[in-house]
Amino acid sequence: MADIQLKQVTKRWGDFVGVQEFDLNIADREFLVLLGPSGCGKTTTMRMIAGLEDPTSGDIVIGGTRVNDLDPKDRDVAMVFQSYGLYPNMNVWENIRFPLKVRGVPEEEHEERVRRASAMVELDDFLHRKPAALSGGQRQRVALARAIVRTPKVFLMDEPLSNLDAKLRVSTRAQIKNLSHELQVTTIYVTHDQIEAMTLADRVVVMKKGIVQQVGTPTEIYDRPANTFVAGFIGSPAMNLMEGEVIDGTFEADGVSIPGFSGVKGPVTCGFRAEDATVAPEGSGEVRAPVYSMELLGDSTMVTVRAGGALVAVKAAKDFRTEIKAPFAASVPASICHLFDTSSGDRIA
Ligand code: ATP
Repeated sequence: MADIQLKQVTKRWGDFVGVQEFDLNIADREFLVLLGPSGCGKTTTMRMIAGLEDPTSGDIVIGGTRVNDLDPKDRDVAMVFQSYGLYPNMNVWENIRFPLKVRGVPEEEHEERVRRASAMVELDDFLHRKPAALSGGQRQRVALARAIVRTPKVFLMDEPLSNLDAKLRVSTRAQIKNLSHELQVTTIYVTHDQIEAMTLADRVVVMKKGIVQQVGTPTEIYDRPANTFVAGFIGSPAMNLMEGEVIDGTFEADGVSIPGFSGVKGPVTCGFRAEDATVAPEGSGEVRAPVYSMELLGDSTMVTVRAGGALVAVKAAKDFRTEIKAPFAASVPASICHLFDTSSGDRIA
């Protein structure tokens, strides 16, 4: 069993708080993604779990054992970084075998274990090459193979795809998902890419400035973002957020009038997703504004208008065509809307 508990884990450097009172139980075999913009404390959290950074306060428990005072090598975690961390003078086979040697795994097991790990990441044909003779994607797969060659209690992956080009990122992402399904090892994965988070995670932790904003399954976070920060971070495009006011149950903003919010009043931020709205006949619809831009995406057409003080996107059919400045109307019923408190950003409905 390798469940992980973070209990009020805090990291401070002087007055600066890098991670604040992080509290979470991570289940055995769970794939947990830490998601947030640069500097939000993801890597610091990971480094504290690995033992590369000491928490200022709080406890870290792995598999029932408090590990705060254990050296990294005694925590039985394997790490994969964005910078690969391969040994340039060793070939692929030797790089993958390295953790077995360090941990004193009997020599006669090495061949079979390296073969199995390299086959899992499809590196069988490259075992005699040095890292310098590999592409970025192949190097990242060596780093993955080196992590999986022994079965650790926990995998820690820090932006392992960020040095790969877009196409390779997608295929390697699928490979990581498949590997994690095969290996069934508790994994904590750090990324600032919300698509990676949504596709890989059992649960996502969204962080901002060292503070956890929301923890949930990808669906929960997508369907019910806890605040405007999460709403604006998740989804492609992110949720449209319009500032306005609810008057007599109707949300009013520049170019927007959405009835159906009884029991709410005053200034609020109203959000909806581009893919939940539909194009309405001219002169109807809750959002009406001139077209700001139109983008052809292949499977759909994204129409953007300026409404409620923001640029607001609506996903239209792939053959929908309009022109910049032409009038545009969208059906945005209250049922697809999310309301947030404008000053705190917190979800209210
Ligand atoms: P990125 O995606 O850019 O790697 P991150 O979310 O992983 O960002 P961290 O590396 O955890 O962010 O850093 C969190 C904050 O702590 C940052 O503001 C960073 O500047 C600060 N920080 C990190 N290490 C130190 C340190 N040794 N001393 C002081 N501040 C630090």
